[in-house]
Amino acid sequence: MTHPDTLSVHAGYQPDATGAVMPPIYLSSTYAQQAPGEHSGFEYGRSGNPSRQALEKALAELEGGSAGFAFASGLGAMSTVLELLEAGSEIVAVDDLYGGAWRLFEQVKGRSAGLKVRYVSPDDLDGLKAAITPATRLVWLEVPTNPLLKFPDIAAISAIAKEAGALTLVDATFVTPYLLQPLKWGADIVLHSLTKYLNGHSDVIGGALIVKEQALADKLRWLQNAVGAVLSPFDSFLALRGLRTLAIRMQRHSSNALSLAQWLETQAGIRAVIYPGLPSHPQYALAQRLLPQGQSGVISIRLDTDEAGLRRFVQALKIFTLAESLGGVESLINHPWSMTHAAIPQAIRVEKGVTSDLLRISVGIEHVADLQADLAQALATLTTAE
Ligand SMILES: *Cc1c(COP(=O)(O)O)cnc(C)c1O
Repeated sequence: MTHPDTLSVHAGYQPDATGAVMPPIYLSSTYAQQAPGEHSGFEYGRSGNPSRQALEKALAELEGGSAGFAFASGLGAMSTVLELLEAGSEIVAVDDLYGGAWRLFEQVKGRSAGLKVRYVSPDDLDGLKAAITPATRLVWLEVPTNPLLKFPDIAAISAIAKEAGALTLVDATFVTPYLLQPLKWGADIVLHSLTKYLNGHSDVIGGALIVKEQALADKLRWLQNAVGAVLSPFDSFLALRGLRTLAIRMQRHSSNALSLAQWLETQAGIRAVIYPGLPSHPQYALAQRLLPQGQSGVISIRLDTDEAGLRRFVQALKIFTLAESLGGVESLINHPWSMTHAAIPQAIRVEKGVTSDLLRISVGIEHVADLQADLAQALATLTTAE
Protein backbone atom coordinates (compact mmCIF):
# COMPACT_ATOMS: atom_id res chain seq x y z
CA MET A 1 0.00 0.00 0.00
CA THR A 2 2.22 2.78 -1.21
CA HIS A 3 -0.43 5.37 -1.97
CA PRO A 4 -2.40 7.22 0.71
CA ASP A 5 -5.52 6.68 -1.41
CA THR A 6 -5.22 2.92 -0.89
CA LEU A 7 -4.11 3.25 2.71
CA SER A 8 -7.08 5.42 3.69
CA VAL A 9 -9.44 2.70 2.42
CA HIS A 10 -7.72 -0.18 4.26
CA ALA A 11 -5.66 1.18 7.19
CA GLY A 12 -6.32 -0.03 10.73
CA TYR A 13 -8.57 -3.00 10.07
CA GLN A 14 -8.67 -6.37 8.35
CA PRO A 15 -11.60 -8.81 8.33
CA ASP A 16 -11.87 -10.19 11.87
CA ALA A 17 -12.67 -13.76 13.08
CA THR A 18 -16.26 -13.45 11.78
CA GLY A 19 -15.03 -12.28 8.39
CA ALA A 20 -16.77 -8.92 8.76
CA VAL A 21 -15.33 -6.79 5.96
CA MET A 22 -16.16 -3.59 7.81
CA PRO A 23 -15.34 -3.20 11.52
CA PRO A 24 -18.14 -3.98 13.98
CA ILE A 25 -19.03 -1.49 16.72
CA TYR A 26 -17.95 -2.94 20.07
CA LEU A 27 -20.15 -1.34 22.71
CA SER A 28 -19.11 -3.58 25.62
CA SER A 29 -17.59 -1.56 28.46
CA THR A 30 -15.70 -4.51 29.93
CA TYR A 31 -14.01 -7.72 28.74
CA ALA A 32 -13.85 -11.27 30.14
CA GLN A 33 -10.51 -12.26 31.63
CA GLN A 34 -9.13 -15.81 31.39
CA ALA A 35 -7.60 -15.58 34.87
CA PRO A 36 -7.07 -12.60 37.23
CA GLY A 37 -5.04 -10.04 35.24
CA GLU A 38 -4.93 -12.26 32.12
CA HIS A 39 -6.86 -10.91 29.14
CA SER A 40 -6.73 -10.85 25.35
CA GLY A 41 -5.66 -7.22 25.01
CA PHE A 42 -8.84 -5.50 26.15
CA GLU A 43 -9.95 -5.13 29.75
CA TYR A 44 -12.01 -1.95 30.13
CA GLY A 45 -13.44 0.32 27.44
CA ARG A 46 -11.67 3.50 28.55
CA SER A 47 -8.23 1.89 28.35
CA GLY A 48 -8.93 0.18 25.04
CA ASN A 49 -11.80 -0.58 22.68
CA PRO A 50 -11.55 -2.50 19.38
CA SER A 51 -13.60 0.06 17.41
CA ARG A 52 -11.47 2.91 18.72
CA GLN A 53 -8.30 0.90 18.17
CA ALA A 54 -9.11 0.40 14.48
CA LEU A 55 -9.44 4.17 14.03
CA GLU A 56 -6.30 4.87 16.07
CA LYS A 57 -4.26 2.40 14.01
CA ALA A 58 -5.57 3.88 10.78
CA LEU A 59 -4.61 7.40 11.88
CA ALA A 60 -1.12 6.25 12.90
CA GLU A 61 -0.60 4.52 9.54
CA LEU A 62 -1.82 7.51 7.55
CA GLU A 63 0.44 9.93 9.46
CA GLY A 64 3.48 7.65 9.25
CA GLY A 65 3.48 7.41 13.06
CA SER A 66 3.74 4.48 15.46
CA ALA A 67 0.65 5.19 17.57
CA GLY A 68 -2.58 7.14 17.43
CA PHE A 69 -4.97 8.13 20.21
CA ALA A 70 -8.59 9.17 19.73
CA PHE A 71 -10.37 11.62 22.04
CA ALA A 72 -13.88 12.86 22.62
CA SER A 73 -13.05 16.16 20.86
CA GLY A 74 -10.13 18.11 19.45
CA LEU A 75 -10.07 20.04 22.71
CA GLY A 76 -10.07 16.76 24.64
CA ALA A 77 -6.91 15.83 22.70
CA MET A 78 -5.42 19.26 23.51
CA SER A 79 -6.22 19.05 27.24
CA THR A 80 -4.66 15.60 27.39
CA VAL A 81 -1.47 16.48 25.53
CA LEU A 82 -0.95 19.49 27.82
CA GLU A 83 -0.78 17.02 30.73
CA LEU A 84 2.65 16.00 29.38
CA LEU A 85 3.91 19.28 30.83
CA GLU A 86 4.89 20.01 34.41
CA ALA A 87 3.11 22.91 36.12
CA GLY A 88 4.74 26.24 35.27
CA SER A 89 6.07 25.09 31.88
CA GLU A 90 6.17 27.46 28.95
CA ILE A 91 4.73 27.00 25.48
CA VAL A 92 5.55 28.97 22.35
CA ALA A 93 2.51 29.04 20.08
CA VAL A 94 1.64 30.59 16.75
CA ASP A 95 -0.53 33.67 17.07
CA ASP A 96 -3.73 33.52 14.96
CA LEU A 97 -4.48 30.37 16.91
CA TYR A 98 -7.67 28.29 16.94
CA GLY A 99 -9.93 30.18 19.39
CA GLY A 100 -10.58 27.14 21.57
CA ALA A 101 -6.85 26.49 21.98
CA TRP A 102 -6.37 30.11 23.01
CA ARG A 103 -9.18 29.82 25.57
CA LEU A 104 -7.76 26.56 26.96
CA PHE A 105 -4.27 28.10 27.31
CA GLU A 106 -5.28 31.49 28.69
CA GLN A 107 -8.44 30.86 30.66
CA VAL A 108 -7.94 27.30 31.93
CA LYS A 109 -4.37 26.01 31.94
CA GLY A 110 -2.77 29.33 32.91
CA ARG A 111 -4.85 29.29 36.08
CA SER A 112 -4.92 25.56 36.85
CA ALA A 113 -1.41 24.51 35.78
CA GLY A 114 0.51 27.80 35.60
CA LEU A 115 1.25 27.24 31.91
CA LYS A 116 2.58 30.35 30.22
CA VAL A 117 2.16 30.77 26.48
CA ARG A 118 4.18 33.17 24.33
CA TYR A 119 2.77 33.89 20.87
CA VAL A 120 4.80 34.43 17.71
CA SER A 121 3.92 34.89 14.08
CA PRO A 122 4.37 31.58 12.19
CA ASP A 123 6.67 33.26 9.64
CA ASP A 124 8.97 34.86 12.24
CA LEU A 125 11.82 32.42 13.01
CA ASP A 126 13.84 35.05 14.90
CA GLY A 127 10.83 35.89 17.03
CA LEU A 128 10.38 32.19 17.74
CA LYS A 129 14.00 31.80 18.85
CA ALA A 130 13.65 34.85 21.08
CA ALA A 131 10.45 33.51 22.66
CA ILE A 132 12.05 30.20 23.68
CA THR A 133 13.32 30.19 27.28
CA PRO A 134 14.83 27.41 29.46
CA ALA A 135 11.26 26.68 30.67
CA THR A 136 9.89 26.09 27.13
CA ARG A 137 8.72 22.50 26.74
CA LEU A 138 6.39 22.69 23.76
CA VAL A 139 6.13 24.57 20.46
CA TRP A 140 2.54 24.65 19.21
CA LEU A 141 1.93 25.10 15.48
CA GLU A 142 -1.10 25.06 13.20
CA VAL A 143 -0.91 24.30 9.47
CA PRO A 144 -2.23 26.58 8.29
CA THR A 145 -3.34 28.98 11.01
CA ASN A 146 -7.00 29.78 11.34
CA PRO A 147 -8.56 31.93 9.93
CA LEU A 148 -5.68 33.82 8.25
CA LEU A 149 -4.08 30.70 6.71
CA LYS A 150 -0.46 31.46 7.57
CA PHE A 151 2.16 28.70 7.36
CA PRO A 152 4.87 27.75 9.81
CA ASP A 153 8.05 26.25 8.35
CA ILE A 154 7.64 22.97 10.27
CA ALA A 155 11.11 21.60 9.49
CA ALA A 156 12.95 24.77 10.52
CA ILE A 157 10.84 25.31 13.62
CA SER A 158 11.01 21.74 14.89
CA ALA A 159 14.80 21.83 14.50
CA ILE A 160 14.95 24.98 16.64
CA ALA A 161 12.60 23.42 19.20
CA LYS A 162 14.58 20.19 19.38
CA GLU A 163 17.78 22.10 20.04
CA ALA A 164 16.03 23.84 22.93
CA GLY A 165 14.76 20.53 24.32
CA ALA A 166 11.13 21.25 23.44
CA LEU A 167 8.61 19.09 21.60
CA THR A 168 6.87 20.36 18.47
CA LEU A 169 3.14 19.80 18.08
CA VAL A 170 1.33 20.49 14.82
CA ASP A 171 -2.42 20.94 14.70
CA ALA A 172 -2.96 19.66 11.15
CA THR A 173 -6.77 19.67 11.26
CA PHE A 174 -7.07 21.84 8.12
CA VAL A 175 -4.88 19.65 5.91
CA THR A 176 -5.14 16.01 7.08
CA PRO A 177 -2.44 13.39 6.43
CA TYR A 178 -3.64 13.13 2.85
CA LEU A 179 -2.12 16.54 2.09
CA LEU A 180 0.60 16.84 4.75
CA GLN A 181 2.32 14.54 7.23
CA PRO A 182 3.95 16.74 9.90
CA LEU A 183 5.94 13.85 11.45
CA LYS A 184 7.91 13.59 8.20
CA TRP A 185 8.82 17.28 8.50
CA GLY A 186 10.24 16.79 11.99
CA ALA A 187 7.23 17.35 14.27
CA ASP A 188 6.87 15.14 17.36
CA ILE A 189 3.09 15.21 17.80
CA VAL A 190 0.26 15.66 15.28
CA LEU A 191 -3.09 16.86 16.59
CA HIS A 192 -6.41 16.67 14.76
CA SER A 193 -9.93 17.70 15.36
CA LEU A 194 -11.55 14.62 13.79
CA THR A 195 -14.70 16.73 13.72
CA LYS A 196 -13.44 18.40 10.53
CA TYR A 197 -11.95 16.77 7.41
CA LEU A 198 -10.98 13.39 8.85
CA ASN A 199 -14.54 12.42 9.71
CA GLY A 200 -15.66 14.77 6.97
CA HIS A 201 -19.44 14.53 7.34
CA SER A 202 -20.20 16.99 10.15
CA ASP A 203 -21.69 14.28 12.36
CA VAL A 204 -18.94 13.47 14.86
CA ILE A 205 -17.10 15.53 17.50
CA GLY A 206 -13.69 13.95 18.01
CA GLY A 207 -9.96 14.55 18.31
CA ALA A 208 -6.70 12.68 17.86
CA LEU A 209 -3.00 12.68 18.65
CA ILE A 210 -0.45 10.78 16.56
CA VAL A 211 3.23 10.28 17.42
CA LYS A 212 6.19 8.29 16.18
CA GLU A 213 8.54 8.08 19.14
CA GLN A 214 7.91 5.13 21.46
CA ALA A 215 8.48 6.80 24.85
CA LEU A 216 6.12 9.61 23.87
CA ALA A 217 3.53 7.08 22.68
CA ASP A 218 3.73 5.28 26.05
CA LYS A 219 3.22 8.52 27.98
CA LEU A 220 0.22 9.50 25.85
CA ARG A 221 -1.34 6.03 26.11
CA TRP A 222 -1.07 6.31 29.88
CA LEU A 223 -2.50 9.85 29.89
CA GLN A 224 -5.36 8.96 27.53
CA ASN A 225 -6.55 6.39 30.07
CA ALA A 226 -5.71 8.46 33.15
CA VAL A 227 -7.44 11.63 31.93
CA GLY A 228 -10.26 9.66 30.31
CA ALA A 229 -11.51 11.89 27.46
CA VAL A 230 -11.79 8.96 25.01
CA LEU A 231 -13.81 8.76 21.79
CA SER A 232 -16.91 6.54 22.00
CA PRO A 233 -17.11 3.26 20.02
CA PHE A 234 -19.90 4.59 17.79
CA ASP A 235 -18.08 7.84 17.01
CA SER A 236 -14.89 5.84 16.38
CA PHE A 237 -16.80 3.73 13.86
CA LEU A 238 -18.22 6.82 12.15
CA ALA A 239 -14.85 8.59 12.02
CA LEU A 240 -13.19 5.53 10.47
CA ARG A 241 -16.03 5.25 7.98
CA GLY A 242 -15.52 8.90 7.05
CA LEU A 243 -11.79 8.43 6.76
CA ARG A 244 -12.25 5.74 4.09
CA THR A 245 -13.12 8.45 1.53
CA LEU A 246 -10.48 10.93 2.71
CA ALA A 247 -8.46 10.84 -0.51
CA ILE A 248 -11.25 11.66 -2.95
CA ARG A 249 -12.79 14.20 -0.57
CA MET A 250 -9.52 16.10 -0.09
CA GLN A 251 -8.93 16.12 -3.85
CA ARG A 252 -12.36 17.62 -4.48
CA HIS A 253 -12.18 20.08 -1.55
CA SER A 254 -8.82 21.30 -2.88
CA SER A 255 -9.78 21.61 -6.54
CA ASN A 256 -13.10 23.30 -5.72
CA ALA A 257 -11.42 25.75 -3.34
CA LEU A 258 -8.63 26.65 -5.78
CA SER A 259 -11.10 27.28 -8.56
CA LEU A 260 -13.37 29.42 -6.36
CA ALA A 261 -10.42 31.34 -4.88
CA GLN A 262 -9.15 32.20 -8.38
CA TRP A 263 -12.62 33.34 -9.39
CA LEU A 264 -13.23 35.32 -6.17
CA GLU A 265 -10.01 37.28 -6.79
CA THR A 266 -11.56 38.71 -9.96
CA GLN A 267 -14.83 39.77 -8.31
CA ALA A 268 -15.87 43.26 -7.25
CA GLY A 269 -17.01 43.57 -3.65
CA ILE A 270 -14.09 41.53 -2.33
CA ARG A 271 -11.07 43.30 -0.91
CA ALA A 272 -8.87 40.26 -0.34
CA VAL A 273 -8.86 36.53 -0.98
CA ILE A 274 -6.62 34.46 1.27
CA TYR A 275 -5.94 30.97 -0.11
CA PRO A 276 -2.60 29.14 -0.02
CA GLY A 277 -2.98 27.93 -3.62
CA LEU A 278 -3.01 31.51 -4.97
CA PRO A 279 0.29 33.15 -5.98
CA SER A 280 -1.00 36.23 -4.10
CA HIS A 281 -0.67 34.33 -0.81
CA PRO A 282 2.33 35.82 1.05
CA GLN A 283 3.74 32.33 1.68
CA TYR A 284 2.80 30.77 -1.65
CA ALA A 285 6.23 29.14 -2.13
CA LEU A 286 6.25 27.52 1.32
CA ALA A 287 2.63 26.40 0.93
CA GLN A 288 3.50 24.75 -2.40
CA ARG A 289 6.45 23.00 -0.78
CA LEU A 290 4.39 21.72 2.18
CA LEU A 291 1.20 20.96 0.23
CA PRO A 292 2.14 20.12 -3.35
CA GLN A 293 -0.97 18.01 -3.98
CA GLY A 294 -3.63 20.49 -2.98
CA GLN A 295 -4.19 23.22 -0.41
CA SER A 296 -7.42 21.96 1.18
CA GLY A 297 -10.82 23.58 1.25
CA VAL A 298 -10.65 26.70 3.41
CA ILE A 299 -10.68 30.19 1.88
CA SER A 300 -10.80 33.42 3.86
CA ILE A 301 -12.11 36.59 2.24
CA ARG A 302 -12.42 40.24 3.23
CA LEU A 303 -15.59 41.82 1.95
CA ASP A 304 -15.52 45.40 0.72
CA THR A 305 -18.72 46.44 2.46
CA ASP A 306 -20.17 47.45 5.81
CA GLU A 307 -21.77 45.29 8.50
CA ALA A 308 -25.19 45.43 6.85
CA GLY A 309 -23.66 44.38 3.53
CA LEU A 310 -21.89 41.46 5.14
CA ARG A 311 -25.17 40.33 6.71
CA ARG A 312 -26.95 40.62 3.35
CA PHE A 313 -24.22 38.58 1.69
CA VAL A 314 -24.24 35.65 4.11
CA GLN A 315 -28.03 35.59 4.33
CA ALA A 316 -28.39 35.56 0.54
CA LEU A 317 -26.33 32.38 0.21
CA LYS A 318 -28.42 29.30 -0.49
CA ILE A 319 -25.93 26.43 -0.72
CA PHE A 320 -23.37 27.73 1.81
CA THR A 321 -24.77 27.35 5.33
CA LEU A 322 -23.87 29.98 7.90
CA ALA A 323 -22.33 27.83 10.63
CA GLU A 324 -19.22 27.24 12.69
CA SER A 325 -16.95 24.33 11.82
CA LEU A 326 -15.47 23.22 8.51
CA GLY A 327 -14.24 20.18 6.65
CA GLY A 328 -17.56 18.48 5.92
CA VAL A 329 -18.85 17.44 2.51
CA GLU A 330 -21.22 20.43 2.60
CA SER A 331 -20.10 24.04 2.09
CA LEU A 332 -20.21 26.33 5.11
CA ILE A 333 -19.47 29.99 5.75
CA ASN A 334 -18.36 31.42 9.08
CA HIS A 335 -17.88 34.94 10.45
CA PRO A 336 -14.88 34.45 12.80
CA TRP A 337 -15.39 37.84 14.46
CA SER A 338 -18.81 36.96 15.88
CA MET A 339 -18.64 33.15 15.79
CA THR A 340 -15.55 30.91 16.06
CA HIS A 341 -13.16 33.58 17.36
CA ALA A 342 -15.55 35.58 19.55
CA ALA A 343 -13.93 34.15 22.72
CA ILE A 344 -10.71 36.05 21.94
CA PRO A 345 -10.73 39.61 23.35
CA GLN A 346 -11.61 42.23 20.72
CA ALA A 347 -8.29 44.10 20.91
CA ILE A 348 -6.34 40.90 20.28
CA ARG A 349 -8.60 39.95 17.35
CA VAL A 350 -8.06 43.35 15.73
CA GLU A 351 -4.31 43.24 16.34
CA LYS A 352 -4.09 39.83 14.65
CA GLY A 353 -6.21 40.87 11.66
CA VAL A 354 -9.30 38.87 12.59
CA THR A 355 -11.53 41.85 11.90
CA SER A 356 -15.28 42.08 11.32
CA ASP A 357 -14.95 42.15 7.49
CA LEU A 358 -13.43 38.64 7.42
CA LEU A 359 -15.37 35.55 6.34
CA ARG A 360 -14.06 32.00 6.36
CA ILE A 361 -15.45 29.66 3.74
CA SER A 362 -15.29 25.88 4.03
CA VAL A 363 -15.66 24.70 0.45
CA GLY A 364 -17.52 21.40 0.24
CA ILE A 365 -17.52 18.72 -2.43
CA GLU A 366 -20.59 19.95 -4.34
CA HIS A 367 -20.24 20.87 -8.03
CA VAL A 368 -18.05 23.94 -8.26
CA ALA A 369 -20.34 25.66 -10.78
CA ASP A 370 -23.23 25.60 -8.30
CA LEU A 371 -21.00 26.99 -5.56
CA GLN A 372 -19.73 29.78 -7.80
CA ALA A 373 -23.26 30.71 -8.90
CA ASP A 374 -24.38 30.87 -5.27
CA LEU A 375 -21.51 33.18 -4.31
CA ALA A 376 -22.14 35.31 -7.42
CA GLN A 377 -25.80 35.91 -6.60
CA ALA A 378 -24.90 36.77 -2.99
CA LEU A 379 -22.17 39.17 -4.12
CA ALA A 380 -24.74 40.89 -6.33
CA THR A 381 -26.62 41.95 -3.16
CA LEU A 382 -23.60 44.10 -2.21
CA THR A 383 -24.09 46.38 -5.22
CA THR A 384 -27.90 46.60 -5.09
CA ALA A 385 -29.13 49.12 -2.52
CA GLU A 386 -31.60 47.71 0.00
C1 LIG B 1 -12.24 22.61 15.47
C2 LIG B 1 -10.79 22.72 15.73
C3 LIG B 1 -10.23 22.29 16.94
C4 LIG B 1 -11.07 21.80 18.09
O1 LIG B 1 -11.68 20.60 17.83
P1 LIG B 1 -13.10 20.15 18.50
O2 LIG B 1 -13.30 18.82 17.90
O3 LIG B 1 -14.11 21.17 18.11
O4 LIG B 1 -12.87 20.13 19.98
C5 LIG B 1 -8.87 22.37 17.07
N1 LIG B 1 -8.08 22.86 16.09
C6 LIG B 1 -8.58 23.30 14.94
C7 LIG B 1 -7.65 23.82 13.90
C8 LIG B 1 -9.94 23.24 14.71
O5 LIG B 1 -10.43 23.70 13.55
